[in-house]
Amino acid sequence: MEKTLRGVGVSHGVAIGQVRHMGTAVLEPPATQIPTEDAPREQARAQAAVEAVAADLVARGNLAGGEAQAVLEAQALMAQDPELMADVSRRIAVGSSAERGVYDAFAAYRALLASAGEYLAGRVADLDDVRNRIVARLLGVPMPGVPDSDEPYVLFARDLAPADTALLDPTLVLGFVTEEGGPTSHSAILARAMGVPAVVALPGAIEVAEGTVVAVDGSSGDVLLEPSQEKQDELRAAAAARKAALAASSGPGQTSDGHRVPLLANVGGPADVPAALENGAEGVGLFRTEFLFLDDSAKAPSAEKQVEAYRKVLEAFPEGRVVVRVLDAGADKPLDFLTPADEPNPALGVRGLRTLLEHPEVLRTQLRSLAKAAEGLPVHLEVMAPMVADRKDAKDFAAACREAGLDAKFGAMVEIPSAALRARSILQEVEFLSLGTNDLAQYTFAADRQVGALARLQDPWQPALLDLVAAAADAARVSGKSCGVCGEAAADPLLAVVLTGLGVTSLSMGAASIPYVRTTLAKYTLAQCRRAAEAARAADSAEEARAAAQQVLSGE
Ligand code: PEP
Ligand code: MG
Repeated sequence: MEKTLRGVGVSHGVAIGQVRHMGTAVLEPPATQIPTEDAPREQARAQAAVEAVAADLVARGNLAGGEAQAVLEAQALMAQDPELMADVSRRIAVGSSAERGVYDAFAAYRALLASAGEYLAGRVADLDDVRNRIVARLLGVPMPGVPDSDEPYVLFARDLAPADTALLDPTLVLGFVTEEGGPTSHSAILARAMGVPAVVALPGAIEVAEGTVVAVDGSSGDVLLEPSQEKQDELRAAAAARKAALAASSGPGQTSDGHRVPLLANVGGPADVPAALENGAEGVGLFRTEFLFLDDSAKAPSAEKQVEAYRKVLEAFPEGRVVVRVLDAGADKPLDFLTPADEPNPALGVRGLRTLLEHPEVLRTQLRSLAKAAEGLPVHLEVMAPMVADRKDAKDFAAACREAGLDAKFGAMVEIPSAALRARSILQEVEFLSLGTNDLAQYTFAADRQVGALARLQDPWQPALLDLVAAAADAARVSGKSCGVCGEAAADPLLAVVLTGLGVTSLSMGAASIPYVRTTLAKYTLAQCRRAAEAARAADSAEEARAAAQQVLSGE
């Protein structure tokens, strides 16, 4: 029976496919004692699970080929390590269940590896993955992490962390649906970066059965369960017609009377560059460098690795503008080697620029790597700091950039209300502002961006947020400097019109949204954008602001 669930649509388009759930971390099996006579049966269960997991890893390696195959084969060998298996058997003989025996034997081996120097310590994550797979198999629960599927699927999850999503195969993921997360969560950001439809904050998402066919409408937020063939055909035809109309749009971002608003792409690394170019991005407005740090959250990537990744992005935009954000660790993007583990409230703790000022060596390496990467390239490099709170933060960041010998413009992200309110004083130290409306909404409304139930307060149409955008844009205009938006607000075509009316000078978004924003912006004059902005700011709620802007634009 067809049934519709409704969440918040955060990435346009329609995806139709089968549901696959993101497996959650494996729980610790209970430490109950088993009777001695059960030991042989439990040992056989453990042995069978180990063999099945090893065979599965080898099979997946054969499919993947290349470097991935070597890694998966090494994991398969790990699973079958005779000493490890002997330890599992010993533990079962003295009363452990198969799953508990595996869990404890791997924990002991893990401790050994972790203390055995850098190379072996690096294998700990692989070992944990093998253990989780065996324990999940024994417990009969889904494999942890990204689904093992060779067929395309719609990924359902409670929420997605950047570390999970780094492992997704973009050719298999048709779309995302999450139970938690608001319009600015990482699930939403990643879906836009990948150009796949997504719905977040969907109550009941984790209860939808594995394998159910769903149609996800990333614009309306509707998720249809078991849609009829007729309905599927109708949705596909409408999505294709819309896509074709958008594909015809090209050229720089501007209003119908020629007021230029460069449309830039948000990228997480070189892998996102092709989509940015395909969608006609005029440059990069936000290069989230923390994705480079996620491969191994135990240490910073080497300078060489950083230079290589930065250069690939910079080379792709000759003569263009590329705004690189220095590492934004902490809160929703924790890194083991930098983020304090015991903060009572990480979103209000040492994160973003605060972390970098406490670890100047990490900032220095990053800035020097950027300087090196840009050497000899005609690109317009701009570097900005996340989570700037006041003039002192901006001053310290600019000083670090100068000290690193960076030939670039230095800027500050406006993500904290204090920075928007005192933008003029921050602009005494830096040359541009970039509004991170995701965090700015979070801090303005005291509403965690990861919590689905608070999606209403994360809505970037909230008039209080628009007031702060206006304050920052006004300060930049008076100072003769630029003020872009790189938060997810820029990806909403109608809101992009309002932001332009508020005086924002560039819009940066997941590449797939660029054609939508370009076509909508080109329909209105700057004067219309300003009137829509005024009407939105005069409203009392996000819904009213949206309706008021729509009315102004359609009535003229
Ligand atoms: C923001 O906060 O709006 C932003 C662009 O940064 P991130 O989403 O990476 O925190
Ligand atoms: Mg932010």
